Amino acid sequence: MKQLTIYNTLSRRKEPFTPLHPEHVGMYVCGPTVYGDAHLGHARPAITFDILYRYLKYLGYKVRYVRNITDVGHLEHDADEGEDKVAKKARLEQLEPMEVVQYYLNRYHKAMEALNVLPPSIEPHASGHIIEQIAFVQRILDAGYAYVSEGSVYFDVEKYNKEHHYGKLSGRNIDELLETTRALDGQSEKRRSMDFALWKKAQPEHIMHWPSPWSEGFPGWHLECSAMGTKYLGDTFDIHGGGMDLMFPHHECEIAQSTAALGHESVRYWMHNNMITINGQKMGKSLGNFITLDEFFSGSHALLEQSYGPMTIRFFILQAHYRGTVDFSNEALLAAEKGFERLRDAYQRLFKLKASASSSVEVKGLLERCEEAMCDDLNTPIVISHLFESAKAINTVADGKASISEEDLAELQAAWKVIVCDILGLKMEDEGDNKNVQAYQKAIDLLLEIRLEAKRNKDWGTSDKIRNELSNLGFSVKDTKDGFEWSL
Ligand code: ZN
Repeated sequence: MKQLTIYNTLSRRKEPFTPLHPEHVGMYVCGPTVYGDAHLGHARPAITFDILYRYLKYLGYKVRYVRNITDVGHLEHDADEGEDKVAKKARLEQLEPMEVVQYYLNRYHKAMEALNVLPPSIEPHASGHIIEQIAFVQRILDAGYAYVSEGSVYFDVEKYNKEHHYGKLSGRNIDELLETTRALDGQSEKRRSMDFALWKKAQPEHIMHWPSPWSEGFPGWHLECSAMGTKYLGDTFDIHGGGMDLMFPHHECEIAQSTAALGHESVRYWMHNNMITINGQKMGKSLGNFITLDEFFSGSHALLEQSYGPMTIRFFILQAHYRGTVDFSNEALLAAEKGFERLRDAYQRLFKLKASASSSVEVKGLLERCEEAMCDDLNTPIVISHLFESAKAINTVADGKASISEEDLAELQAAWKVIVCDILGLKMEDEGDNKNVQAYQKAIDLLLEIRLEAKRNKDWGTSDKIRNELSNLGFSVKDTKDGFEWSL
């Protein structure tokens, strides 16, 4: 087995990956909060840890991959204050909270499937693990690192920090934090503003709540990952992943909770993917640049010049190393679409090549070079550059300017299949779908242009015919000031 090296956020360096068990790997990734459609920001952690999952399996490990669903305790203002986001959506739409969860979860799964992200081994819901979370809180209380106040339970950060190091993952200085947050105290039921809720007493308007020894309430957001991670992967497990934005406070709190309850840390390797910006800006609902994956697939967002297929999005994300930033723009996505097309063309040509008696191109060792790049902290951009190199050789042979032996051809075909399909998870046939969508949209536009011209020429027969026939096919056509709008 090749030696995989990964960057451990906790030690701040690349380390050889050696799992606890020689054959099994336990991996936990913070999953989505399900009260809205998945957007580009959801695609990056999903694809990053899909690559890790695929590569660990490729190396021969049996992997238990746990990705949770946050469906309770994610509050509006911060981790401890405000209305539960799922409950708010349920209230506004007059639905049962679990209807909201199921609706967005189904849509999330559909988007992930389109991106060819493999489903995890276990997808536990926070709301389905209240008993485990209550037990976890009790262990922290018993160990003396939490206190009960007005029916809520808070983690005592200052006490914990005396014996352990709160802030070790994110590199924050706790003394500074304690100093700067001191002024805020006095009003709240917490001893210090940086203490975080393990259990919150539900306010009367709160519609999601459960009985507990302390109050009718609900778990704090950070708790679910400590409780479910250790339930399914054991008190100590190999990998915990998530987006960099979760490092503080979420993952820092997880470390503190697990250390307080179990007497030791749970996670051996922490991995974080970097974020996606849009035209250089952070993504945010208020900035109007919050583009959902469905909007990318259909091209229906105002910032998008066209639709982009799921494989273009996947390729776009893999072109950058997962620890580097990615900036979305139409130009960048168009370039990714072109690049992916070049690879796909080379792939399709490769499987039509005819072997000759000998090779006049050097094609050996592609798989080894790509494995080397993957073993170096999942360096997908290097893998892709090796593929582009190889594509040049394929095209030279396909154009009749060079020859390839039967043995070399077989090696090359096998290598491409493994690298592209198994390791990178790129579907080589599918993107035709997006091409089809674009072509069909253009064809309808063209028909309606002809109709517009017919109307201008008072050729009502042609104009009505186009409109009626399209309507029979299920299209609705609306005349507007500057032309037309249509939908299916
Ligand atoms: Zn988490």
